[in-house]
Amino acid sequence: MKTLIKNIGLLAGISESTRKEGPDMGVVHCLKDAWLLVDGDIIAGFGGKSVDESSPNAEETLPESDLILDAEGAMLMPAFCDSHTHVVYAGSRLKEFEDKIKGLSYAEIAARGGGILNSADRTHSASEEDLYRQSMERVLEMMAKGSGAIEIKSGYGLNTADELKMLRVIKRIADSVPAHIKATFLGAHAVARGMSKEDYVKQVCDEMIPAVAAEKLAEYVDVFCEKGFFSPEDTDLILTSAGKYGMKVKLHANQLHVSGGVQVGVKHNALSVDHLERTTDAEIACLKGSVTMPTMLPGASFFLREPYGNAKGFIENGLGVALASDYNPGSSPSGDMRFIMALGCIWMRLTPEQAFNAVTLNGAYAMGLSNIVGSIAKGKSANLILTKQGFNEIGSIAYLYQTPFIRKVFLKGKEI
Ligand SMILES: [Zn+2]
Repeated sequence: MKTLIKNIGLLAGISESTRKEGPDMGVVHCLKDAWLLVDGDIIAGFGGKSVDESSPNAEETLPESDLILDAEGAMLMPAFCDSHTHVVYAGSRLKEFEDKIKGLSYAEIAARGGGILNSADRTHSASEEDLYRQSMERVLEMMAKGSGAIEIKSGYGLNTADELKMLRVIKRIADSVPAHIKATFLGAHAVARGMSKEDYVKQVCDEMIPAVAAEKLAEYVDVFCEKGFFSPEDTDLILTSAGKYGMKVKLHANQLHVSGGVQVGVKHNALSVDHLERTTDAEIACLKGSVTMPTMLPGASFFLREPYGNAKGFIENGLGVALASDYNPGSSPSGDMRFIMALGCIWMRLTPEQAFNAVTLNGAYAMGLSNIVGSIAKGKSANLILTKQGFNEIGSIAYLYQTPFIRKVFLKGKEI
């Protein structure tokens, strides 16, 4: 089945690269008056006129197709790639939201039974079916808002049985939606109640990771490398254990302190180091020349009223940046990647083009998917957003950040 999308005002995000870095982050390749052919679940071809007025624009004959969709002059772009979420959880943390409004600190909220352990208790009590049902609602909402590739972490289990339960739910979601889903094991999200940190790290290394690997439930492993949670030394032990089972690394680093997480992540060839609200020149120097994508989560900065990461500093030093939603019940209860783009532009001073690359191709890179999704390229998965009329400039997506802009979303070639 071939579908031709014609009369595209702006075909945005054309790229054969696997990631965007430095000055290239500010470039989004586009064609105007364009067409794109979807064959089954892949992009089979595209064409159009150069946006550069000085280039000669040859007329093209449109390819044959079974179905024609008129884009009516609007924009067609890659679906968003959200490389950091915790959308599998039970219940909500509305009470903590209200406590924060009243002025309670994180420590006070934790003392009242809040935080990650609160979500762990609710996730423990929920049946696997109920956890799946609640999580699917969030994933379907994210897809409707244009996310076509989503990473989901465990980490509200904090014991082997419940971590495996979460990962089975992620697998079931992956099997039931057209979005590309990647699973990450985050047993080291917090220390389980009643255990010493040393014993818990040992359990993660010697029991949980082998169990996850045996059932092939996660490709990636993550650690909350943060003062008061897991030190760089704990993190190194866990990542070394994961490496023995062929699991790749993604890491929570430098959210609340300069934690040393970036250095340990780069040492283990992490795909991404995430958060980075607090970094110094040492972190930038460490990331240069590495395979690791710095990933920032402005939704968490917004919700917690924490500083935004120095994305500009990374880009000015030749690095790339990805932006992700961090969708989770405690610190970022939204998976709206378009809002993440707007926060990137408004609070991190990213240009709309830099923000665009951060939520598409670089997000795909940060979950090991940039040869499959994240840009318009022949042979890539047909994960596409067709905008409403009037949205035919990159900047308009973040600028008109509350005006509905999606006309259709295609994932693996199917309209959702
Ligand atoms: Zn997170």
